[in-house]
Amino acid sequence: MAPASKPTPGLYLVATPIGNAGDLSQRASTILSRVDIIYCEDTRVTRKLLTLHGIATATASYHEHNAAQVRPQIMARLAAGEAVALVSDAGTPLVSDPGYKLVQDCIAGGHALTALPGANAALTALILSGLPCDRFLFAGFLPPKSAARRTALIEFIGLRATLLFYESGPRLAAMLADLAAVLGPRRAAVARELTKLFEEVRRDTLDVLARHYEQAGPPKGEIVVVVGPPDTDRVEAADIDAALVAALNRLSLRDAVAEVAAATGWARRDVYAHALALTRDDPAGDDDDAHQTDEP
Ligand code: SAM
Repeated sequence: MAPASKPTPGLYLVATPIGNAGDLSQRASTILSRVDIIYCEDTRVTRKLLTLHGIATATASYHEHNAAQVRPQIMARLAAGEAVALVSDAGTPLVSDPGYKLVQDCIAGGHALTALPGANAALTALILSGLPCDRFLFAGFLPPKSAARRTALIEFIGLRATLLFYESGPRLAAMLADLAAVLGPRRAAVARELTKLFEEVRRDTLDVLARHYEQAGPPKGEIVVVVGPPDTDRVEAADIDAALVAALNRLSLRDAVAEVAAATGWARRDVYAHALALTRDDPAGDDDDAHQTDEP
């Protein structure tokens, strides 16, 4: 039998399964077995997958804590004409995972770069959600604390797109409550353990989902939250108030009005009128959310 040919030198970004080991593509399996080395987040996690697929290629770690030290070694390998693969623990590298700076350096160094696409939790959740797939925005993980999370959500209020977030079980109920508070009772889906034995997609409005997980307790496993676009063309007054409450946590009245007007497309003077009404209701400029924390 002829020896397996070595791939063209360069960096190969290889997607791996998000749960079901059978989701590694045949092309990914071939490339991983033929590159000179595979860089991965956790060598033990990747070795399990490689063993299942009969791949014996050497591995080395590349994760957020050693990336700055390891990157020059990878660049040296590329310069020496090696074929190098990058994978993450699960799914597509660079998507909420390391690799972005390596790709930048690889492009700057003029090395060949290609991707072997495959599993990704966000896209899998999107297509299972039953929510519009024509326009979507992937927002990764939101801040863990409630006040910062509500602030981060302001910019999404007026966006006519389905939103995708990664989240952990212990934070899910509080995160859904903040989504409902800032974005209103939109249609949403919580997708859990995708491609695994206990795969589940729960579809309902944000407020109902928040109450469900508040009562049921933190779910096990990995989670993607999908939020549908606003039902109406126009951002509602209640959305403006929720956005203002979050913005006033950290900004002056003037800056909060400017930020909310920009995020929602509302006229500044109308947002200002809402802000005045809110601060009249709460003369100390204080609000309950400022004291809320969701850390377990
Ligand atoms: N690069 C990965 C991808 O392409 O999806 C994502 C890595 S990110 C560090 C890990 C997060 O992805 C998890 O916390 C969870 O929110 C989501 N995730 C990964 N696998 C999942 C699965 N099987 N089901 C649901 N969510 C998953």
